[in-house]
Order: sequence, then C-alpha cells, then structure tokens
Amino acid sequence: MTNTIAVLGSTGSIGRQTLDVANQLGLRVAVLTAHTRVEQMEKQARKFRPRLAVMTDETAARDLAVRLSDTDVRVMGGQAALEEAAVFSEADTVVTAVVGMVGLKPTLAAIREKKRIALANKETLVCAGELVMDVAEESGAEMIPVDSEHSAIFQCLQGCADKREVKRLILTCSGGPFYGMNRIEAGKMTKADALKHPNWKMGPKITVDCATLMNKGLEVIEAMRLYRLPLEQVDVVIHRQSIVHSLVEFRDGAVLAQLGTPDMRLPIRYAMTYPEREESPLEPLDLLSCPPLTFDRPDREVFPCLALAEKAAVRGGTACAVLNGANEKAVQLFLEGKIGFYDIFYLTERAVEALPVVKKPTLEEILAADQAAREIVSKEHLA
Ligand code: NDP
Ligand code: MG
Repeated sequence: MTNTIAVLGSTGSIGRQTLDVANQLGLRVAVLTAHTRVEQMEKQARKFRPRLAVMTDETAARDLAVRLSDTDVRVMGGQAALEEAAVFSEADTVVTAVVGMVGLKPTLAAIREKKRIALANKETLVCAGELVMDVAEESGAEMIPVDSEHSAIFQCLQGCADKREVKRLILTCSGGPFYGMNRIEAGKMTKADALKHPNWKMGPKITVDCATLMNKGLEVIEAMRLYRLPLEQVDVVIHRQSIVHSLVEFRDGAVLAQLGTPDMRLPIRYAMTYPEREESPLEPLDLLSCPPLTFDRPDREVFPCLALAEKAAVRGGTACAVLNGANEKAVQLFLEGKIGFYDIFYLTERAVEALPVVKKPTLEEILAADQAAREIVSKEHLA
C-alpha cells in the first residue's frame, strides 16, 4: 500500500479526486503539479502542505511563489520541473494525472526510479507503450492503471498467473453523448454538445475524445500495451450505464467483470491500496435500483476514430504517437471552435496516412513523430 504520493496534474479532474482519496486514506502528499491554475494550486498547497509545488507555466510559477512565500512549500516552474516532481525521493507513488503526451517524460523518469505508477495519463502508453513497458519491466516499477476500464481488467486478472489463459479483454464504452446519431446528425455537433458527457465529469480533452470514440481507441491501445496482447484479443462493447467497467474472458469460457458506480475515486483508491482493499465512504452499488444493463456493438461508421486507432495499433511503432499527437492538436482546434466535429477524424487520419512508421522507435523518434503529426494538423486545417 502507498504511503506518500506525488500528484502530477493535481488541479484537474483526476488530480482533485486523487486528493480526495488521499484525504480519505490519510496519505501524505509530497508533491503537487499544475500548469496554469494557480489559485486552485494555492488552495491545495495550503491544505496538503506538500514539500514541492510545480507550475509548468513559468509565469504561474512566479505567481505561486509569491502566494506561498509565508509557507515552507518549495515552488518550481517550467516543463523540466515536472520531471523533478516525478522523481521526488519522498514519494513512493506517482499519480500521472496530467493531460496529453507531456506526461511521457515524467512517467518514464518515475518508472526508472522504481516508483509505483498510478497511471491515469493514457497518452503515455498510447505514444510509447512498448518502450514504457520495457523500461518498467527492467526497473521493476509497478504500473497500476487508473483508467476505469483498465483498472477493471487489472482487478479481474488478479490471481491469473499465466497470460495464455486470457482469451480476450472486453472494454466497455458509454458511447458518449452522440450515441445513436447518424453521421449527418453527429456532424452538426458543436463543442458545447461534445462537452456534455452522460455519465462522467472529466477534463475537456478526454470528454471530446469520448464523443468521437477516440478515447476508446486510445484505450484499446493502452490495453494492448499494458497486457501485451494483439488487437484480436481486445474488444469493445457499448454499455450505456457505465456500471460494468470492463471484462476478461478466459480460455475456459468464464467471463469476469468488475462492477461499480461510475466514480473515478474507486479505481484511484484501488491504485493506492493495491494489493489490499480498504473500507470506502463512497456510495455502494445497489443492483436493485440500477437501470437494466445493456450491451451493444460500437458504430465504427459514425465514429470512425475508433477504427482509425485500431489501424494505428496494428501498425505499431510510431503510428500510435502520430495518431495521438494529431488527435491532441485536432481536439485543441475543435475546443477553440476552429474546426468541426468530423475534422478531428479527417485531420488525424491525414497525419496517420502521411507519416512513415518507425518500428521499435527510440524516445527521440517518438517525440519527433508527435511533433510531425501536430505540424500536419496545423498546416492542413488552414489549407
Ligand atoms: P484535466 O484537463 O481535468 O486536468 C489536466 C491536468 O493537467 C491539470 O492539472 C492541468 O493543470 C495539467 N496540465 C494541463 N496541461 C499541462 C501541460 N502542458 N503540462 C503540465 N501539466 C498540464 O484532465 P483529466 O483529469 O480529465 O485527465 C487527466 C488524464 O487522465 C488524461 O490523460 C485522461 O485521459 C486521463 N483520464 C481521465 C479520466 C477522468 O475521469 N477525468 C478517466 C480516465 C483517464 P491546470 O489545471 O493548471 O491546467
Ligand atoms: Mg476510461
């Protein structure tokens, strides 16, 4: 069980819920990091009194240093400080709750220091999953997924000593706010429509990814890398109620699932207490009052980002870094109101098709592929 944590991205949706869980479990919070939301960070720092608080935005860091000058909290600024935060000696567990591939380098640094990684930042595994898992295997660092589907699978796999017993992983997917629409209807959807998720309250980037189903595509890749399985062994089913968080089918036909209320504090808590479980104050699941549980096939025509991600997953190498980088840039443009809903798919597909795949890439090659993908999206959307 974890004693002391570093929370990278503490002001975000996962970060705030992590601090809630830390409070419940009585964990010590040694490090907090955020990007620009300095007011939130000041409040968190005053409450949790970490040894180190990082703002990756330099101006915000200067502001925070002034605000916290009456405390003994050390303040650092800049992107490189995120790596210092990730390897801070007193923390045994690093919760990676920053959004986007900026999480990659600090996660790698923490893995090399053999920290337990409570991994929320899925982009890290999408961009560089093979490399990251190799480094984790070498260092012996534990990788505990926080993403609800992957946490469900991780829980179902407890006690499974031989991976060959697994027939397939079944990831559940809420279907997002545009479930049931046709392409014409979905094509008219705006940023405001995309930001209304039926079951979860999350940061804006992942909420848009849920609307396009790119999130599920990224999660397919995340599952393939975490469990080193081919695409044929990772399936997706639509489950609107978000109560069955995911399932594992075994060779003998047995299917194990993990169920629970849709509350991210549950998988966060498990990543903290693993391999044990602690009493929780959260609302328990009441099967008698929950809606009927339904399952459906995802519509890859209306939501082509899912199939695009699956294609990149099969190509492997830098293809997934390209997919992720292009998608991050396209979602940013969509959130700025500069492109339409399906442009996210078209621009990402353009980058995936245009760039060559480097097999077994180094970190530098992954970062270069990410950069090249973003440049293609930036250029193409103006064309
Ligand atoms: P949010 O947007 O709510 O929070 C993101 C956090 O990262 C904030 O603390 C933010 O700081 C910080 N941040 C933003 N940009 C940068 C940057 N360039 N450098 C360093 N830090 C930065 O995101 P979520 O909490 O929703 O998601 C975090 C991660 O967890 C994502 O990878 C997401 O896919 C994954 N995840 C989230 C789930 C959820 O329920 N939210 C569920 C499963 C996975 P600031 O506040 O200052 O901007
Ligand atoms: Mg998820």
